[in-house]
Amino acid sequence: MIRSDWTMAEARAIHALPFADLMHRAQTLHRAHFDPNAIETASLLSIKTGGCPEDCSYCSQSAHHETGVKATKLIGTDEVLAAARRAKASGAQRFCMGAAWRSPKDRDMDKLCDMVRGVSELGLETCMTLGMLSPEQVARLKAAGLDFYNHNIDTSPEYYAQIATTRTIEDRLDTVEQVRKGGIKVCCGGILGMGEAEEDRIAMLVTLATLPAHPDSVPVNLWNEIEGVPVPVQARAQAVDPFALVRIVALARILMPASVVRLSAGRTGMSDELQALCFLAGANSIFVGDQLLTTGNPAAWKDQDLLTRLGMHVAPAQVRARVAAE
Ligand code: SF4
Repeated sequence: MIRSDWTMAEARAIHALPFADLMHRAQTLHRAHFDPNAIETASLLSIKTGGCPEDCSYCSQSAHHETGVKATKLIGTDEVLAAARRAKASGAQRFCMGAAWRSPKDRDMDKLCDMVRGVSELGLETCMTLGMLSPEQVARLKAAGLDFYNHNIDTSPEYYAQIATTRTIEDRLDTVEQVRKGGIKVCCGGILGMGEAEEDRIAMLVTLATLPAHPDSVPVNLWNEIEGVPVPVQARAQAVDPFALVRIVALARILMPASVVRLSAGRTGMSDELQALCFLAGANSIFVGDQLLTTGNPAAWKDQDLLTRLGMHVAPAQVRARVAAE
């Protein structure tokens, strides 16, 4: 059953289950909604890097921090389509385009819509992450054929002010709601390892799981240590316990059983065994390709090798949807 009335007490109790019980519950739900041996693959391209006016404390692209990331302009549609062709050839099913903006300018919308149309015509699912959107911008992207919009809430409502001050979590949730109402699928998740408490991780998932509709995709990111950003100092001292990551993936699977859970940034620092545990806990999507927006990602051969050793296969989108609907 899909529920949107989860309480913190329920989520805490699930999160605290003995590990084997938690994994069994997550895997049982995973099998009820998805092919457990199938994984979705997405590729990510930065279409406008750096110089972002937001002050997210974890991000290398904020203009507020000295990180050495060079600000660029919105790249050309031809460049985007060439990257999308390469992504398709290397096995990606979805092509995500990210711009470091607070929100897109209306003057950029024609070009963004051209990118969406062009990537769609290549037979790839399309996703964009561009910051906050007005209802009119949502409508234009939808009309161009945008399948998914990524807009993470990053952390709990309680911890949000520690990681960004130029916007609130309510601003994020407003855009998520605009996107959903506009008929674009929502990709919304968070980041672990920014100095937040276990309670914040659970609250972040409860926030998502009590939205009017669960996000279609829930990315779970591990923060990569980035020089020059003011992420709270405790995050640098404490690496995320691998089992804490697996528990959060399992909790995401249990609270939002029909959502795709993506093991996103931070996989370069994860062992094969940890990734396998995350897949068992219900993660069923990864980014493929050597590069995320500004950070690294495992080499394609490494991912292929891991999936082969685990007997997993890349699932065509229509198979995923059929299994999820059954
Ligand atoms: S996370 Fe996004 S909005 Fe925040 S500074 Fe980085 S690019 Fe800008």
